Amino acid sequence: MVDARPLTASFLKSAAELTQCPVDDVSEVAFVGRSNVGKSSTLNNLTGTRNLARVSKTPGRTQLINLFELNEVVDNQRGRLVDLPGYGFARASKAQRAAWGKLVDDYLNKRSNLCGIVLVMDSRHPPFEFDQQMIDWCIERGLRLLVLMNKCDKLKRNRQKQALNAVERSYGDAPNVKIELFSASASIGTTSVRNLLREWIYSDSA
Ligand code: GDP
Repeated sequence: MVDARPLTASFLKSAAELTQCPVDDVSEVAFVGRSNVGKSSTLNNLTGTRNLARVSKTPGRTQLINLFELNEVVDNQRGRLVDLPGYGFARASKAQRAAWGKLVDDYLNKRSNLCGIVLVMDSRHPPFEFDQQMIDWCIERGLRLLVLMNKCDKLKRNRQKQALNAVERSYGDAPNVKIELFSASASIGTTSVRNLLREWIYSDSA
């Protein structure tokens, strides 16, 4: 059954190190993406709020892991959405970049309750190197990955198809990878993404 309801969520906490993350007994879906691709807008769209992800934009928190707890309980299970710090910050220092790398690396490699990753990209551009690395890493690990080709409202329909086909040609054969056209601002793909994330979260007991 398709569940289109917003994934209503509340801010739980920010973590500067993996040890500061809450107990890993609840399934988590992590969101990654270059800054400005619309990761915050995507989180707001999926959760049906205007400013949930504002916390992730608060100075000092942009380089942290920000965790949100879903407000729903399904089959006695809860879930979390996790906003990983955006990459590609022009103003980040070398030391900050190194710390970012360690934090994200630790989370991705060690978090036992991570049940899938949402990679937000800009549908108008082919995957950047980091996007490719992220996709390859998920394929290697067999971890579920949803590639959201965001801002598709900015493309005409035939250009949307071309963009989707190009990414599908490269990665569409991997059984754990799904690729979808999406628009956070025009709510394109929202229902199907909410539904998929529920499937991931509640079919996994962390
Ligand atoms: P973040 O840095 O990845 O969190 O990106 P934001 O969510 O702050 O979005 C960056 C800019 O892209 C903002 O001006 C948003 O309004 C815009 N944006 C985000 N998603 C979409 C979308 O689906 N379509 C369009 N046209 N603009 C979007």
